Amino acid sequence: MKTSIVPIFIPHLGCPHLCTFCNQKKISGTLKAPDRIDIISLVDEYISADISKVYEIAFFGGSFTALEMEMQKYYLETAAMLKKEKKIVKIRYSTRPDAISEQVLELSKMYSVDIIELGLQSMDNKVLELAERGHTAEDTINAGKLIKKYDFSLGLQIMPGLMGDNEETILRTFNIAASLEPDFVRIYPTIVIKGTKLEDYYNNKEYIPIDLQKMVELTAKGWELFEKKGIKVIRMGLQHSENLTSEKDLIAGPYHPAFGELVFSEVFKNKIISIIENRKIKEGNELVLKINPGELSKARGHKNYNINIIKRTYNIDLKFIPDMSIKKGQIETEV
Ligand code: SF4
Repeated sequence: MKTSIVPIFIPHLGCPHLCTFCNQKKISGTLKAPDRIDIISLVDEYISADISKVYEIAFFGGSFTALEMEMQKYYLETAAMLKKEKKIVKIRYSTRPDAISEQVLELSKMYSVDIIELGLQSMDNKVLELAERGHTAEDTINAGKLIKKYDFSLGLQIMPGLMGDNEETILRTFNIAASLEPDFVRIYPTIVIKGTKLEDYYNNKEYIPIDLQKMVELTAKGWELFEKKGIKVIRMGLQHSENLTSEKDLIAGPYHPAFGELVFSEVFKNKIISIIENRKIKEGNELVLKINPGELSKARGHKNYNINIIKRTYNIDLKFIPDMSIKKGQIETEV
């Protein structure tokens, strides 16, 4: 059965900080925190819109475990009741690494929370300091270990490209994140959003975002690393939203509505290059590759980017043969 998430937005209530890239304080001023009735009605709405799916409740938008204990209890009680009634199958929330403690995890266990996502953003302390995160990489390591000790599923959210970040710090962040053995990862490249401190830094030329192509290449390296270790990357790039695409809120940065697709194309390009180099395929030849039919456009690349770059760099023509027997993400050479 397909699983769908019922998002419950808790507007900035729990967050004691104002990270340079975040505009939630601004947004939250205009939003009301949901109460029990709102949550139950929203879940019912989702269920009646599609009864063929199962649902999970996700608290996001602030730092859930930084809420007052009474408030956490109130929301978790509501979610646990919906779970008991079998209206939802899982409970998840996102929070900050420094808001994880034995006490909050005990409470989450009591109310049958399943998944905890940590916004680690970077594992470089200088980058965290410049982003005014208010926590360190060590806080993330401790929180990750504790969440696993309590046997919750662990998700990690990474934001490559913050102020002070570079290729080395980004790849190190991916590596340390993988060493925490999360169940899944989300990668959200940093973009400059209107009304943030990062916007001021950008306008004063103190912050230059990483360009789209470079960010695609770095994220592809992250994807390859996580994939090798059996860690799922469940999201790459911010969700397509009206404000971002209409450039109302997006000031600058490597945003693309199909960012994840661009990364997968890059991963295919890297696979093709390693075939060419390992097999020492000579220039002027044609390389025939069998791939899953659903992945033809990814393998070709956006506007045939992969085909063109391989031709330019190696003088090799690529030919793709769709083949249902090839697993997604795999490539086989035609012999
Ligand atoms: S901790 Fe999260 S919600 Fe709070 S300011 Fe930072 S990014 Fe925004």
